[in-house]
Amino acid sequence: MSDTFDLVVIGGGSGGLASSQRAAEYGARVALVESGPLGGTCVNVGCVPKKIMWNAADLGSALIDAADYGFRLDAHGHDWKHLKQVRDDYVHRLNGIYAANLARRNVELVRAHASFLGPHTVAAGGRTLEAPHIIIATGGRPTVPQIPGAQLGLTSDDFFRLPERPQRVAVVGGSYIAVELAAIFAGLSSKVTLVLRHESVLRSFEPMLGEASLKSLQEEGVEIAMHSSPTGLTRNGAGALELEVAGGRRLGPFDAVQFAIGREAVVDGVGLDKAGVQLDAQGYIGTDKYQATSVPGIYAIGDVTGRVQLTPVAIAAGRRLCDRLFGGQEGRFLDYENVPTVIFGHPPIGTVGLTERAARERFGNENVRVFRSSFVPLYHAVTTAKVRVDMKLVTAGPEQRIVGIHIVGAGADEMLQGFAVALRMGATKKDFDDTVAIHPTSAEELVTMR
Ligand code: FAD
Ligand code: NDP
Repeated sequence: MSDTFDLVVIGGGSGGLASSQRAAEYGARVALVESGPLGGTCVNVGCVPKKIMWNAADLGSALIDAADYGFRLDAHGHDWKHLKQVRDDYVHRLNGIYAANLARRNVELVRAHASFLGPHTVAAGGRTLEAPHIIIATGGRPTVPQIPGAQLGLTSDDFFRLPERPQRVAVVGGSYIAVELAAIFAGLSSKVTLVLRHESVLRSFEPMLGEASLKSLQEEGVEIAMHSSPTGLTRNGAGALELEVAGGRRLGPFDAVQFAIGREAVVDGVGLDKAGVQLDAQGYIGTDKYQATSVPGIYAIGDVTGRVQLTPVAIAAGRRLCDRLFGGQEGRFLDYENVPTVIFGHPPIGTVGLTERAARERFGNENVRVFRSSFVPLYHAVTTAKVRVDMKLVTAGPEQRIVGIHIVGAGADEMLQGFAVALRMGATKKDFDDTVAIHPTSAEELVTMR
């Protein structure tokens, strides 16, 4: 006996939750299958608990600055256990809120592992779910390096399970998660070594961002081990970890080695072969601009597609897909260009649009003009620490349309969203110049650059 729905969604993370609810709002009969806690990566082992840890590290810096602002504080260290408890409690509350939201919208939640039996049927928890439309939103998992002793290291999932703060930590990797976790550990007073294969971090972004970010990490006391490709991880006689890197060098001793070297799609155990769904060369589910897979009626959204692995992207892709399938909005799809993103380093890094180099390649060298600003924000005028803000506007064409905005510095995270709207709307440098500044802020620099 099979249960028939209009839509079956596999995975109750950012993309799956958003799409199932959007479809149900249009009156579709929807089943959502989730094998773990609701909310997926973002809520349980990603954005949400990470941001709470980032807030804590940020407060750590604020406490140091507070003395310069005249506060007389007695520092009694940081209670990691307490922070973990309040953070986990909040995440559990969110798990419950998501379940209630699904129930309110009449989405049937099936708490089980889902696996395709055929292109329109899914086995889950002893039931057979059938639907003309099936969305795969199974997300990703951290990549573990293929080196001897890798099991001694931590993935980002393990980071959120740490019962106490390790004192000496190696963070391996050079992008989002490595920069964020290195900053969190350092901000909470761990001795951090950032282990890079190359000479910089955030290499796929505007170079200014990686350079400034690396400098801030160093100023926070993070040691940088460049040209260090890990080859093995061992525990020494004293029980501490040692990381072997190419060339036979050994780094350490460490109390923890944190891997942050990328993520891979969760596609095993989903029975994709039974449905005929094809993977691309990198092991992600290949989709067209309408999120359609190689099989009619089966779609994929979010991290499992390998395209811009961010929560709002998974949500937007899923909602647009359901607007199209159930909301009569033919032709609706997600444009993956100009997605704003923030790396929650200390300070945060915000970026949208083209790097200077990409703009020069696209529009021609002579058609690109760049504006830069680098300054110590007013907040740091009276503090011992002087964390700078660096900004870059990339413009193209005679009208100087803004095609890239890159900011590193306090406030970049909150500053970027509104400016991303302006970029998307095609704002020009003159529009920025004609906007009256808000003083005294760091953001005003973006509308006063010459
Ligand atoms: P997921 O959220 O991973 O959800 C997939 C769900 O599918 C999971 O719940 C899983 O249990 C379930 N599932 C898998 N297989 C099956 C099956 N066969 N049957 C049933 N259920 C199944 N993004 C941001 O935008 N901002 C951030 O600050 C940010 N910080 C991050 C920090 C970290 C440490 C990490 C790891 C990621 C972060 N991200 C951030 C990325 C963000 O978490 C992901 O892009 C987002 O969660 C992807 O959503 P998704 O729906 O594609 O997959
Ligand atoms: P990324 O894929 O972004 O980057 C991983 C980096 O690790 C690579 O750029 C590479 O840097 C380095 N690396 C890769 N393989 C190895 C290796 N074998 N040994 C040493 N270093 C290696 O992965 P992350 O894990 O940082 O994050 C995954 C994704 O999650 C992000 O791309 C992002 O989409 C999402 N995310 C978003 C966040 C946000 O929005 N704030 C926060 C966290 C994650 P190099 O080439 O320089 O060596």
